[in-house]
Amino acid sequence: MPFCPYCKKKITMSKAFCSNDCRDNYFHYISIQTPKPFIKRLYTVHNESEREIEIIKYSKLHNMKLNLLRKKISKAAVNMGYIENTTPQHNSFADNVAD
Ligand SMILES: [Zn+2]
Repeated sequence: MPFCPYCKKKITMSKAFCSNDCRDNYFHYISIQTPKPFIKRLYTVHNESEREIEIIKYSKLHNMKLNLLRKKISKAAVNMGYIENTTPQHNSFADNVAD
C-alpha cells in the first residue's frame, strides 16, 4: 500500500497523493527556499516579534504559504543550531523532508 508523500496517509495505487491539497502543499513546500543568510539574520539580528514580521514579509514577497514557510524556517534553524528541535513526532513529509 503506497503512502501519500506529504501526509503519509495510506492511499490507493492509482493515486500519487491523497488529496489535491497534499499535492499542492508538497510541491509548494519543496519549492520554498530559505537562504542561510536569511535564517541567520532572523535568529541573530531580530527578536521574536521582529522575526515574525520578517517571516510574514518574506512569505508575501515570494508568494509562499505562511505555515509551510514557518516549517521550513524552523527546520533550517534547527539544522543551523539556532533553535532546538521541538517537533514531537516525525510523522509528516514536512517534518521529515531533508534539505
Ligand atoms: Zn496526503
